[in-house]
Amino acid sequence: MKISGTTRLAGIMGWPVTHSRSPVLHGFWLDENEIDGAYLPLPVRPEHIEQALRALPILGFRGCNLTIPHKQTALSVVDSVEPLARRIGAVNTVIIGPDGSLEGRNTDAFGFCENLREAVPEWNPAAGPAVILGAGGAARAIVAALADTGVAEIRIVNRTLAHAAALASDLSTPKVAITVHSWDKVSTAQREAGLIVNATSLGMAGEPALILDLSSLPPSTPVVDIVYVPLETELLAAARRHGHPVVDGLGMLLHQGRPGFEAWFGVPVQVTHELRAAMRATLAPTR
Ligand code: NAP
Repeated sequence: MKISGTTRLAGIMGWPVTHSRSPVLHGFWLDENEIDGAYLPLPVRPEHIEQALRALPILGFRGCNLTIPHKQTALSVVDSVEPLARRIGAVNTVIIGPDGSLEGRNTDAFGFCENLREAVPEWNPAAGPAVILGAGGAARAIVAALADTGVAEIRIVNRTLAHAAALASDLSTPKVAITVHSWDKVSTAQREAGLIVNATSLGMAGEPALILDLSSLPPSTPVVDIVYVPLETELLAAARRHGHPVVDGLGMLLHQGRPGFEAWFGVPVQVTHELRAAMRATLAPTR
């Protein structure tokens, strides 16, 4: 990478930000497309997020991504919020307009859907209810994404039932029935499921494994785990042994980066085999 007087700039704000894989992802696309651009890690303390976002147009940045703990706060800082990000309640991508205004978007739902489509093109939304484990930020994006696929019912299973109920209420839509289920009823909620998604932090390096009884699931039901460190979680290994199509968390991570890159640098990008290989090398568990 060479920096010139005309280098276009973007980056990711987080606190901390050292764990983020986004600089590797965007760096790959910049190199691949020989773009005079740079994508930087931007460590920003929570109390400075508004000043940092407002500084972006002054410094000539095209925009940025946001990670923990800024995704929710940014909603009230940016000048406009796309309806999907408003619905999800979080902004992970900021685009600077020609007038210096800040537009907040959420690309996690796009990333989830693109990955699902690519990994299990045979998945039929009408096959049965989608079961989402978890009710945090990622689960909100996934529920918003699935509501547009034609699935008839989304069952949210969460340790804290009140979080699941809040999600169901915030994301309620006539398009789909969203039901909530307590963690001890996970086996019942899984019955006849057409899709299972782990959107909890269980299975992540340093966290307990997620163990589900998969025996009552139709073998054609895809099992998705959005955890990406490690990529092969115990849940996915068990699902593979039972013959289910399995989808790991890497594709969602990569696809969610595409809309921001395309807006900042003006070039469409793809998730290629080479990109996956480069990113897999950065995702070894650290424990
Ligand atoms: P979050 O907002 O903190 O939500 C965490 C969720 O996990 C909550 O539903 C929480 O339940 C549940 N949970 C935590 N510990 C648990 C336990 N011991 N037993 C049962 N449930 C437990 O986190 P997030 O941002 O949604 O992220 C969740 C996971 O998705 C993380 O592993 C993250 O790395 C991954 N992720 C992946 C991508 C991708 O692109 N592949 C994108 C975003 C996130 P309570 O409500 O009861 O606390």
